[in-house]
Amino acid sequence: MSCHITVGQAVNRKEEYSVLQDERIVTFIRSMDTKNSEVLERIERESVEMGVPIIRPEMQSFLRVFLELVRPARILEVGTGSGFSALLMAEYSGAGCRIVTIEADRRRAAAAACNLAVHPDGEKVRLLEGDAGSILPTLDGTFDFIFMDAAKAQYIHFLPEVLRLLRAGGVLISDNVLQEGDILESHYAVERRNRTIYKRMREYLLTIKTMPELVTSIVPIGDGAAVNVRRDTGMKGLSGSADGETEDRGGAADAVVNVADRSADEAEGKSE
Ligand code: SAM
Repeated sequence: MSCHITVGQAVNRKEEYSVLQDERIVTFIRSMDTKNSEVLERIERESVEMGVPIIRPEMQSFLRVFLELVRPARILEVGTGSGFSALLMAEYSGAGCRIVTIEADRRRAAAAACNLAVHPDGEKVRLLEGDAGSILPTLDGTFDFIFMDAAKAQYIHFLPEVLRLLRAGGVLISDNVLQEGDILESHYAVERRNRTIYKRMREYLLTIKTMPELVTSIVPIGDGAAVNVRRDTGMKGLSGSADGETEDRGGAADAVVNVADRSADEAEGKSE
């Protein structure tokens, strides 16, 4: 059964090579990839045709490795798209794993719901339709693994809620954090329409790199991924530890709550 719904312009996967990597290296790595299940291959194909972005092959393997490492019982995804990555995570996680995924776009949520219904592991996934900014505060409990793949300018705003929901020792992966290399340019070299994303993403990266609650690595894979492990602050020597030792990393955590200029979001819209 097909879940083909018209939601946008077809994307060319070949054009998705990132400026961050040598195209030949990416081609070489991709040539070694084993295929996904038939149903995932079909969803990937249709998503590309429908113009719904999905994670690149490099991020697919990256996620699979982390799922094997973490063996999560609860996964949270922000940015469902057509449901491809949620279903990939459903396939590569244990039978008892449950996934909550959030999608703001009504047509994409409809395509995702259709894909979940036809995938054998679809029942592991709960799709919540709406803006993650409103939905995240309503979620209870903690998650072992969180995958952030929504509007890049929103990551910094989602962070406080995402951290509330990430258990100690849990892993947070955020995709597309290097903005096709724009991130390292000067403010003036970035196209005006991309400047809000640029500013917010720099703030996000600085925050997650410096906040004592997280151990973070920024990896130039695909369009850049940030991998964070939430530290167990009960461990000796870490911030907030039993021996009272604290670390001052320049008040980066404050930056999370002091984010100004939320209104710029509306001007920018919820781009991926
Ligand atoms: N993770 C998906 C996959 O690989 O199959 C792709 C997700 S796509 C890159 C990003 C999605 O995030 C889009 O479908 C977009 O509508 C959604 N999104 C953007 N901002 C959002 C928000 N504030 N709340 C919920 N979803 C949002």
